[in-house]
Amino acid sequence: AGSGKKGDISREKSAELYEKAKQYFPGGVNSPVRAFKSVHGTPLFIERGDGCFLWDADGNQFTDFCCSWGPLILGHNHPKIREKVTKTLEKGLSFGAPTALENELAELILKHNRYIEKLRFVSSGTEAVMSAIRLARGYTGRDKIIKFDGCYHGHSDSLLVKAGSGLVTFGETSSAGVPKAFADETLVIPLADREAVETAFSEFKGQIAAVIIEGIPANNGLLIQEHEYIHFLRNITKENGTLLIFDEVITGFRLGFEGAAAHYDVQPDILTYGKIIGGGMPVGAYGASAALMSHISPDGGVYQAGTLSGNPVAMAAGIAQLTELRSSGFYKNLNQKTAEFAEAIQRYAAAKNYKVNLVNVGSIFWFAFTSQTTIRTAGDIDHGSMELYKVFHRELLNRGVYLGPSGYEVGFVSAAHSKTELEKAKRAIFESLDEVFR
Ligand code: PLP
Repeated sequence: AGSGKKGDISREKSAELYEKAKQYFPGGVNSPVRAFKSVHGTPLFIERGDGCFLWDADGNQFTDFCCSWGPLILGHNHPKIREKVTKTLEKGLSFGAPTALENELAELILKHNRYIEKLRFVSSGTEAVMSAIRLARGYTGRDKIIKFDGCYHGHSDSLLVKAGSGLVTFGETSSAGVPKAFADETLVIPLADREAVETAFSEFKGQIAAVIIEGIPANNGLLIQEHEYIHFLRNITKENGTLLIFDEVITGFRLGFEGAAAHYDVQPDILTYGKIIGGGMPVGAYGASAALMSHISPDGGVYQAGTLSGNPVAMAAGIAQLTELRSSGFYKNLNQKTAEFAEAIQRYAAAKNYKVNLVNVGSIFWFAFTSQTTIRTAGDIDHGSMELYKVFHRELLNRGVYLGPSGYEVGFVSAAHSKTELEKAKRAIFESLDEVFR
């Protein structure tokens, strides 16, 4: 039996900080989703994190399933990362010159990743993807790219483009300030639809530089694609001299050390990384074969640079985190723990006849408030159900569980989520579902 209705947590200090922040930042935040526009109440200002826990400015404690939107696969404040970062920063914060730490992180990655031979470090996922697109265009001498409706690849101009009407259309900008001419170079098509891809390739023969897809689309719900579809994309791109870009900013080092490429057993042409790669510091990367990467400056004609690229403190955090991920059984344990957690919740929902589909892959999960069992495209998502997520989110906060403040966002389980804490979180989730469907 649930403990029934819970009172709302105190948000006095957070609300005060938010009022101040609104004087300084548009919407009071430095990234839009943080403003809690899609859920109840004002945003929580976070004071600190440790392991799987977060504490806000009002002293509320939460079990965190947002994990900074993915980077924190070891949880907050991991002692090995903290130690390596602290040691590194004692020697200075930035040099704008090569350091051994860059080699160390690159070696750690390249030695254990069959899908890339060389990489370039940047400072965010957006930058990684933007550079990958430029490389694809520079290499192929073509301008058009294909992206999928429901995939997010950061906020560079070419990718802030949404589907127009019709099966294959020029994209429409999804942000003011993106020139229409840019959107015209991005074709946006539905996921899981072979015909749309074939039509795009026949209508724009010889013009498509790249097809970009998230390793597993996880920014608009969790839209798991079939193996056959991914291999279809690999084949059709190859036949057309088009590069296949796997955006692994979420899936890289998350599904396994080799990310979605290994999950699907597919060799993309360019892979992009972010989040986990930097251990919580601002790091992104893009990688490919040595031959393809030779087109990047200073070796080749595709320009890309960064004052803080390969920053030593950020590299240190990445090295410490990725080293832990190499330990034997790491992913097996994490993925198993997550699957058990998700299955138990799914069983509970099914027993109560709640319209919940808890989608799960690896240590990523997503609550879809629907009885639909297969959700593969943006069009499959019931936007009306987001009202239920709002209630769910508030009830969870009231029970000490922190999920991202939007029903379109996925959750993450980290190695720091112990079975005991997952058990407690599960009970909070059961009670919150009871409230949602009351
Ligand atoms: N690509 C994917 C798949 C992402 O999930 C994100 C961010 O969530 C990005 C790119 C952009 O990364 P960043 O926010 O680090 O710029």
